[in-house]
Amino acid sequence: KLSIRLQEVGEFVPQDAVLLDIGSDHAYLPIHLVKMGRIKSAIAGEVVQGPYDSAKSNVAAFGLSDSITVRLASGLAAFDPEIDGIDTITIAGMGGHLIADILGESQEKLAQISRLILQPNNGEWYLRNWLQAHQFQISHEMILTENDKLYEIIVACPSKTLLELSEDDLRFGPILRREKSEIFRLKWQSELRAHQAILSQIPVSATDKRQEFLDKIAKIEEVLDVSK
Ligand code: SAM
Repeated sequence: KLSIRLQEVGEFVPQDAVLLDIGSDHAYLPIHLVKMGRIKSAIAGEVVQGPYDSAKSNVAAFGLSDSITVRLASGLAAFDPEIDGIDTITIAGMGGHLIADILGESQEKLAQISRLILQPNNGEWYLRNWLQAHQFQISHEMILTENDKLYEIIVACPSKTLLELSEDDLRFGPILRREKSEIFRLKWQSELRAHQAILSQIPVSATDKRQEFLDKIAKIEEVLDVSK
């Protein structure tokens, strides 16, 4: 059964998309989306032989080899913008740095992409900052839990007129920090406790370091509305 995390990623894929799923592993996401009738076709890209083989055999087992092409390739090398007609890219289950590196490697190939759906396991600040610096506007965000882990989904579209993200937007998410869902609160309450624990270990003499953490803690308290 498909994880809730990947189901939610799939919810952001537009109807009739032509999808590239980078780091597809077992190709579960494209298989799910084709079976649902959500997408026209997909390329499942995988850079490692084992997952590539498993993606290929899963696609064949579901009889979906006509609509899902599995390619052994790194990142954006899995598609040709002139031929493949890709309009949507999903990258899930990797670190935010790696996702940004993959997107940045041949950025000219993103020209025809109308939607990126990204699910970083960490490094959200870095990824949002990359999107901002490369003319992608964040249009949707989601935070969810599954098996006691927290996941964020970031959806972005190319935009010539970017709304500038503030430092708080980059850290907490421009949409998540306004929504302040229960799960968002859980995440930042736990970050708050972690920061307080670190602060208690910093010697009183290390004034600068302490101030850095005091500032971070104040920011989190502000977002959680607990400072008053
Ligand atoms: N996307 C699936 C998910 O969210 O469940 C699989 C996530 S799995 C943790 C990450 C996958 O990305 C691995 O199968 C890995 O081989 C693949 N991967 C890592 N770097 C890649 C790259 N540059 N290009 C394509 N695939 C990559």
